[in-house]
Amino acid sequence: MTDTITVAAATAWLEAYADVVDAQRDHLTELDSAIGDADHGANMSRGTRAAVDKVLADQPAHLDGLLKAVGMTLVSTVGGTSGPLYGTFFLRLAAALGHEGEADPATLAAGLRAGLDGVIARGKAEAGDKTMIDAMDPAVAAFERAVTGGSVLGAAASAAADAADAGRDATEPLIARKGRASYLGERSAGHIDPGAASTALLFRSLAEALAA
Ligand code: ADP
Ligand code: MG
Repeated sequence: MTDTITVAAATAWLEAYADVVDAQRDHLTELDSAIGDADHGANMSRGTRAAVDKVLADQPAHLDGLLKAVGMTLVSTVGGTSGPLYGTFFLRLAAALGHEGEADPATLAAGLRAGLDGVIARGKAEAGDKTMIDAMDPAVAAFERAVTGGSVLGAAASAAADAADAGRDATEPLIARKGRASYLGERSAGHIDPGAASTALLFRSLAEALAA
């Protein structure tokens, strides 16, 4: 049996993500109202739904076309700081997976790493700055470790999702050093970072799509 992420599985990932972002829209907004401007839930829900609509309308046949459409749609519809960052993640992932109908675990691991590197290059945040990087970095590292250790994709994505959840929770005591939350200084401590929360949902959705 081949263990790959197909165009259908990537589409299922995106649909699962839009659904869970929608379900947690108010929660993401609450997190962003504590240390930001209360728009993260609305931003992400609008953007992920637009990305699903675009993909279902265009029916891309290859992973690069699909993920590029997602990235471009997120850039143009999410807005805020997180739109361009999530957009960059998907555009880099698209380039790494290439003009193929499916990708094996090592290729997906390299693609997720490329996505993370793109977000870091664009946002200039480091681990511990209380941003989405604090969920994304441990998630990608866990995915790579699992794949290197011989895990199938579903198990690797599940390990990544667990690591993202832990990274999200670990943002709570941190003082924000990037983005809008950094304006609060020490008052940003005591709240989970909204972008880390939406990134944890991104990896949980991937685990769900790859387990199916
Ligand atoms: P805005 O802050 O413009 O309102 P959002 O509310 O949509 O945008 O997104 C806020 C999230 O963006 C933060 O919770 C944080 O995770 C993420 N973020 C902000 N700045 C950066 C950065 N420089 N690098 C990575 N992530 C960042
Ligand atoms: Mg905001």
